[in-house]
Amino acid sequence: MIRLYDTMSREKREFEPQNPERITMYVCGPTVYNRAHIGNARPAVVFDTLARLIRHEFGPDSLVYARNVTDVDDKIIAAAEAEGVEPAVITERYERAYLEDMGALGVEPPTIAPHATREIGPMIAMIERLIGLGHAYEAEGHVLFSVPSDPTYGALSRRDREAMLAGARVEVAPYKRDPADFVLWKPSGEGVIGWDSPWGRGRPGWHIECSAMIRAHLGETIDIHGGGLDLIFPHHENEIAQSRCAHGGAPLARFWVHNGFLDMGAEKMSKSLGNVVTVNDLLAQGHRGETLRLALLSAHYRSPLPWTEALIEQSKARLDRWYRALKVLEESPQPQSDGALGGFIEALSDDLNTPLALSVLDSALRVLDRPDPLAEYQEGQLAYGTGRGVSILSAAVKHARMLGFLNSSSEEWFKGSLADETRISDAIFRRNNAKANRDFATADRIRDELKAEGIILEDTPSGTTWRRG
Ligand SMILES: [Zn+2]
Repeated sequence: MIRLYDTMSREKREFEPQNPERITMYVCGPTVYNRAHIGNARPAVVFDTLARLIRHEFGPDSLVYARNVTDVDDKIIAAAEAEGVEPAVITERYERAYLEDMGALGVEPPTIAPHATREIGPMIAMIERLIGLGHAYEAEGHVLFSVPSDPTYGALSRRDREAMLAGARVEVAPYKRDPADFVLWKPSGEGVIGWDSPWGRGRPGWHIECSAMIRAHLGETIDIHGGGLDLIFPHHENEIAQSRCAHGGAPLARFWVHNGFLDMGAEKMSKSLGNVVTVNDLLAQGHRGETLRLALLSAHYRSPLPWTEALIEQSKARLDRWYRALKVLEESPQPQSDGALGGFIEALSDDLNTPLALSVLDSALRVLDRPDPLAEYQEGQLAYGTGRGVSILSAAVKHARMLGFLNSSSEEWFKGSLADETRISDAIFRRNNAKANRDFATADRIRDELKAEGIILEDTPSGTTWRRG
């Protein structure tokens, strides 16, 4: 039984889908005008993990997961103007980049990826319906949602009117009847992307896109709506108002699930990492997607996650341990049985407690963190005994793969990094020898050669360490 924390009711509840054979989940996706920040990767990885759990519990075809692509937006228009190209050039380039980056992090594509520009018809239809029901009005080429027409507005964020107006940072346009009203449709000037509508040529506001696409692809009420905490207000509040008012009061989602932020300022980072914040840059630095994925899942999804160099290094070391365990399994003559690890699914099912689930994997794989575990297994020396040890190991690897880890062979995993590590520690050894012989020119040359390939040496009282800079 999966339990999820629902932001609307502010409590953890049992997740019982409306239809267990067609569970519906919608997550607000990227606005495609630049490369994804590592912070934007957190919801993609978190909801990918939730999707994997749901499919594990309810069956591989049980879930319809929609993640939209916002491909019309003022930031996109500005980026296109800056480059002197059509908006589609920008959106196609960055949607491809987004999919590549998320693919590197082991994020499986959603079932459906609706694009705003391809769903203008359903948006216009929903806006017309809202006007007809007295929840929206036209003014100076704009269509606005009338917030006072919805007495339950604010239920998700639980803000009073003062806080809502402050939070929305409303620039009170003269055509608004109420300062809290928000845009459903706005006019497009000449040369700006737009579509014909009953209110003239224009383009949709951001919020209506999600409401209309959820209705078109998933239905009036979905099981799970997800996104980052920053979307609760105003975006999700506005989605709720639009959908509920257009659908005779039917709730938009049965569970509202929100992930916390990455904290980029928790420690003073090196100049290099301080500037490196996109997924692409982190990958280009030599970090593997699997390492970044593990780092992103190392904290509970609702908690803030301090994003530090140490976290990335710890995650890499943790995966090295797991891959050493995988190597034992690859070399094991024992047949692989299909065991289950006590506590793993239970941890994930408790509001996606990934830190606990990962620690269950750590414990199962720790018994193998020995100089020559395979020999010990074969000799039956380890506490678990040969057969059972391998079966626990096999179960741990199966569960790690369910979470998107251990997808390479141990050989592939260690190929690059071990060779590098051996070579670098060899260089450090030669440099220390040169220093001991007071041959500072050689010592400096070795340091500079490593620096040229992005390896930074640090002399500490306990010896020389290195990191990628
Ligand atoms: Zn949305």
